[in-house]
Amino acid sequence: MANKFDVIVIGSGPGGYVAAIRAAQLGLNTACVEKWQSDDGKVVNGGTCLNVGCIPSKALLDSSYKYHEAKDELGVHGIDVSGVKIDVPAMIARKDTIVKNFTGNIGMLFKQNGVTSLQGHGKLLAGRKVELHKPDGSTEVYEADNVIIASGSVPVNIPVAQIDNDVVVDSTGALQFESAPKRLGVIGAGVIGLELGSVWSRLGSEVVCLEALDTFLAVMDQQIAKETKKILTKQGLDIRLGCRVTGTEVKKGKATVTFVNNEGAEQQETFDKLIVCVGRRPFTEDLLSADSGVNLDERGFIYVNDLCSTDAPGVWAIGDVVRGPMLAHKASEEGIMVAERIAGQKTMMNYDVIPNVIYTHPEVASVGRTEEQVKADGEPYKVGVFPFAANGRAVVSNETAGMVKIIAHEETDRILGCHIVGPSAADLVQQVAIAMEFGSTAEDVGMTVFAHPTLSESVHEAALAVNGHAIHIANRRPRKK
Ligand code: FAD
Ligand code: AMP
Repeated sequence: MANKFDVIVIGSGPGGYVAAIRAAQLGLNTACVEKWQSDDGKVVNGGTCLNVGCIPSKALLDSSYKYHEAKDELGVHGIDVSGVKIDVPAMIARKDTIVKNFTGNIGMLFKQNGVTSLQGHGKLLAGRKVELHKPDGSTEVYEADNVIIASGSVPVNIPVAQIDNDVVVDSTGALQFESAPKRLGVIGAGVIGLELGSVWSRLGSEVVCLEALDTFLAVMDQQIAKETKKILTKQGLDIRLGCRVTGTEVKKGKATVTFVNNEGAEQQETFDKLIVCVGRRPFTEDLLSADSGVNLDERGFIYVNDLCSTDAPGVWAIGDVVRGPMLAHKASEEGIMVAERIAGQKTMMNYDVIPNVIYTHPEVASVGRTEEQVKADGEPYKVGVFPFAANGRAVVSNETAGMVKIIAHEETDRILGCHIVGPSAADLVQQVAIAMEFGSTAEDVGMTVFAHPTLSESVHEAALAVNGHAIHIANRRPRKK
């Protein structure tokens, strides 16, 4: 029967398209359903990550940083660049071309791997049937032995700041500004707010971030969070903590935001553009028939166990639509685990070692537990910190802000977490993620030979500092023989 597959995946974001490709690699007859339409009405693969998330935001972060660097950072190297200008529409067009190429490539990967693309909105019915509502209005029902739901997430909307896609925008709208707004308000100083705030701040906007919580980056290691706040504030981001937005009025192309500040007083600020970045919610609209057998948890995520099985036999769910961090690489790894499980393998995923990055400059990256979490868990621990100011490569490239922090178990020396703010933090933290995956101790990393001069030597030195052996700083801990 032509409408029967081994596996149907609903959603082609980094969770869904990776699951579909891996399932096809394993010899399973696989289809992937996608409904996302680009501005020209064509159905495109790639989900949030490729269309309006990781890739376009990093394209703008890189372009805007290059502009800032040429304008403000090259003088110290003796390079005189005068008359540096930014062409925002060209920058946006470059980003759009990158997105188009990447999303197009997924179609090619599907063809190469024999994945069938089904265009339209998929709804899961009972018995692992999927009803496809096609863009032309017709409907067809498909059937599979296994269904993987990867329907992702969408931005949270708050009634106190309604999106009008003109003055008040969400993260998607903030990737499309035609010029740098003079005054830019950002509601929510989380990962996305800080990244998008940084883009437009580098291009000349005066940026104010209003954050309801009193603690900056509350889920991060607080030593690193404090250092990050200092660095970003020095760059010009006006980060106001304890400021809860209570209303927004748009008049004559400007948004006036009312908020209760950290002293309990009501205050107002007027902005040329306002970005609302208060988090994302799982997307399950018109996804499940009442008798599908799939349940949601109390926060609206599809309920799954550790192996991403839902309550309905043969139905799995992965990525942003299920519990855990909303990260592209977490979605992809779950996709691989589920595809391999369907093929009869015993793959598991290590949820304790998932790196997390904020792509500001410098980057902020972490893996494993924070010092606060280890303390709360009541485990004895030791810490090694190494500042980039003492790293030769960081000094020669004029990138000395920040530090590497490694936390290890006091007795076993096993690495429990690593937290970095500094140059190339995303790539550096991955080295520790690999070490943690292999159950390494701080001493193991300390005994590894690192190339000189590299930023990676900061990881080496932080690992040595855990046991009081760092060479290029005064050790806080007594030296362990
Ligand atoms: P999604 O990428 O959301 O994909 C879900 C897909 O399913 C969509 O294409 C949707 O159209 C489709 N779909 C939904 N329902 C149906 C249906 N019923 N029928 C058919 N199709 C359906 N993460 C990182 O790891 N690193 C980053 O640097 C990063 N930066 C980000 C920057 C921004 C601005 C944003 C918004 C997010 C960022 N993220 C980042 C988060 C990342 O994009 C998500 O974690 C990731 O895309 C989740 O993947 P997913 O496959 O679960 O869902
Ligand atoms: P993240 O979860 O990283 O996307 O960050 C979203 C941030 O938005 C969180 O730090 C929230 O505390 C913050 N936030 C949510 N609602 C409001 C609000 N009404 N005013 C200001 N900040 C908010």
